[in-house]
Amino acid sequence: MKYDFLIVGAGFAGAVAAERLASQQNKKILIVEKRNHIAGNAYDEYDEHGILVHRYGPHIFHTNSKKVFDYLSKFTGWRFYEHRVLAKLNGSLYPIPINRTTVNKLYGKNFKSDEEVAKFYESVREKRYPVKNSEDIIVNQVGKDLYEKFFKHYTKKQWDLDPSQLSASVCGRIPVRTNEDDRYFTDKFQFMPKDGYTKMFERMLKHKNIEIILNTDYKKIINNIKFDKMIYTGPIDYFFDYEFGKLPYRSLKFKWENINTEFHLKASSYNFVGKEEKFTRKTEYKYLTGQKSNSTTISTEYPTMKGDPYYPVPNSKNHTEFNKYKNLADRIKNVIFIGRLAEYKYYNMDQIVITVLQKLKMI
Ligand code: FAD
Ligand code: UDP
Repeated sequence: MKYDFLIVGAGFAGAVAAERLASQQNKKILIVEKRNHIAGNAYDEYDEHGILVHRYGPHIFHTNSKKVFDYLSKFTGWRFYEHRVLAKLNGSLYPIPINRTTVNKLYGKNFKSDEEVAKFYESVREKRYPVKNSEDIIVNQVGKDLYEKFFKHYTKKQWDLDPSQLSASVCGRIPVRTNEDDRYFTDKFQFMPKDGYTKMFERMLKHKNIEIILNTDYKKIINNIKFDKMIYTGPIDYFFDYEFGKLPYRSLKFKWENINTEFHLKASSYNFVGKEEKFTRKTEYKYLTGQKSNSTTISTEYPTMKGDPYYPVPNSKNHTEFNKYKNLADRIKNVIFIGRLAEYKYYNMDQIVITVLQKLKMI
């Protein structure tokens, strides 16, 4: 048997590519996935208490792209859901992203308009030009105190780097608001897949042209498989046997607890922004999924360098290292490198879908 495509990885990048190539171009696909499940880091499953959890941390779908939303809607219904996060600082809870309520509560102010809050930010901000890193981008908007309270320690824990050592785009993911909007995202489409991500992936991959091998590193079988082209969604440094050394990828360890109460936290996620706790985030999944149950399951995230790669670490040094691999990758004509690990890009799920559709010219 000869396949048109060998696809390494059954996460968003691999699954969207497989689905499009099989259903639109009648290509024969073999997906090789080293984990024992599909859906990559978006994988969800019911835990032993019957609660639907995201095994690799909270995944909230949000996009401004109608194309992405319409495309995924072929494989899932949706549950309207807007994510809200509280930052825990010295025992108190504040809305994050920083908004008018955050400022009023923290500084005992009574600002009532956007203008008053904008004036306040103007009075405390430190101008940084050019904005070169993740410290600059926050301090430039809201000054040192808010930066140190909400960004400095969380970022250090998450990346084991000071914000000044990370690209501006990292902390720049989090907006600063003058109004009372306490949603984490403001995208046009904010929904969770009705039956979960794994079910959505099952429907995407249920096609007569798609075969899947789980529990298998592609390097173990590649010499026994005949294929024309490869789509590679794993870590790019591993593909090239670490020729230029290992690229840093950040990972997480999760602690899971089930509590015998309907809801435990006051919001879906708490960001622990102080340095007292070693962990960054707690998430209560029932808020995300809308599931009804007498008990509730919560995950706590402990960032680490060991374990499966979850996050590329965006800064100029790592970008330079990545480019050495990219130069090699660009020379290999029958392999397409796509996804968060293969492109070393801090992509959200919707950005992966757009990238795959564009790279395969199907948008
Ligand atoms: P992955 O999902 O990592 O898939 C790659 C697959 O390749 C994996 O399954 C891996 O096992 C497999 N693989 C790797 N090497 C090999 C090999 N040698 N052989 C065979 N298989 C291999 N995005 C959002 O939009 N919203 C969110 O709220 C959000 N929250 C997140 C929270 C956390 C904690 C994390 C880590 C990510 C979050 N993301 C979120 C990002 C989202 O997970 C990614 O954008 C998306 O899953 C990336 O898809 P991918 O296919 O590129 O990579
Ligand atoms: N961040 C922070 N404090 C917060 C939230 C985010 O310092 O309360 C910084 C931190 O560096 C984090 C980055 O902003 O890694 C991006 O946050 P996001 O919530 O998007 O992270 P993800 O959900 O991808 O882990």
